[in-house]
Amino acid sequence: LGEPFKKARNVIQVLEDNGYEAYFVGGSVRDYLLDVPVGDIDIATNAKPDEMLSLFERTVPVGIEHGTVLILDGDHEFEVTTYRVEGEYDDFRRPDSVEFVRDITLDLSRRDFTINAMAMNLDGDIIDPYGGQEHLLQKEIHTVGQPKDRFTEDALRMLRAVRFASQLNFEIAHDVNDAIIEYGPLINHVAVERIQVELFKMFKGVGLKQGLHSLNSTQLYKSLPVFKEEHSLLTRLNETVKNPIPFENVMIATLTLLSQEHDLNNWVKAYKLSNKLKKESLHLLNCYDEYRRNGINETLVYQLTADYFGHFVELVFIIDQVSIDASELTTLFEQLPIRTRSDLAVTGHDIMSMFPNEKRGPWIGEYLSNIEQLVLQSKLINNRTEIERQVKRWKEQESN
Ligand code: ATP
Ligand code: MG
Repeated sequence: LGEPFKKARNVIQVLEDNGYEAYFVGGSVRDYLLDVPVGDIDIATNAKPDEMLSLFERTVPVGIEHGTVLILDGDHEFEVTTYRVEGEYDDFRRPDSVEFVRDITLDLSRRDFTINAMAMNLDGDIIDPYGGQEHLLQKEIHTVGQPKDRFTEDALRMLRAVRFASQLNFEIAHDVNDAIIEYGPLINHVAVERIQVELFKMFKGVGLKQGLHSLNSTQLYKSLPVFKEEHSLLTRLNETVKNPIPFENVMIATLTLLSQEHDLNNWVKAYKLSNKLKKESLHLLNCYDEYRRNGINETLVYQLTADYFGHFVELVFIIDQVSIDASELTTLFEQLPIRTRSDLAVTGHDIMSMFPNEKRGPWIGEYLSNIEQLVLQSKLINNRTEIERQVKRWKEQESN
């Protein structure tokens, strides 16, 4: 077994030594069999949560009522979940109850897709009751059990199907696709925060083309926030976006630029995006605007700041199919006379104290930003005397 699994060996060993079973489950087993990089390691066990708490010293009861305990081992952490089945679903999203069980096969039966419903022990033996390995070979996404049943239990699974199509470059099986066409609107019962997570993962997928294709063939987009009000957006996405989008701020900036009826605020509201993501996306959009007006110059790289060069290059590549050389931006940035406003040889306070009789007000900020522009364009030297001379000239012009 590979590195990530070895790190979890100790946790599984302790459980086994105490007479319990424990398996790797879910995405890690799937990714291991596909020979792609393994993400989080999830473990399932027949030990009950309180039994886990007593066996391990460093634990966090992250979801005890659902059977999940975070076990810390060295500098690694693993989510370990008691085998469980889920009770009735009355709201198309969450089970009313969960019940702990002693059989791994039952636990696997509650999982969404066959490729996610496999378990593996420390020797690499695979438990695969629903044909997951076969479906990995066929590159197809099948539900565990009837698609209709699984999608009416938890409607998010329909978007997860599309997300896995994108992440793995797989096709969605016909019966699954048909069921999504029929039950797609149920996704409106699902919290938009959960939708957001799956949509972001879709855009990061190496098979994004396939993912967007599936979003269309399942018609699921007709039930997703924003897309449902602007159907043509999916067409434009398909024509424009050829590669995965690794950065969420670039994703949102792209979606905003491609929508004709929705602005950034609409996206933020519809998907409850974080303030941080909103701020970053707005920054990229403002810089893109500056780029469209004046191209690559000092003002642009100064506004961007070096942190955003990679993101900006991505955005321009997606929208305009133009490859900007990031090192060109870096070179320009390194030659700038100032990198931020605080590099200016004067502060707002300095300017104010030049005119003791003037009230403070927006004029100070305006002066600063004019000074900033002149310094950036090397039309003014960043030196206190020079700047003060310029400011006096402006004041005199104003009073004339
Ligand atoms: P990745 O971590 O690569 O995004 P993953 O398969 O680990 O993919 P997660 O969302 O982390 O996906 O879920 C872990 C596992 O839990 C899944 O593999 C699946 O077995 C199960 N699972 C997650 N969400 C659901 C759901 N909504 N319905 C049924 N099973 C689910
Ligand atoms: Mg995972």
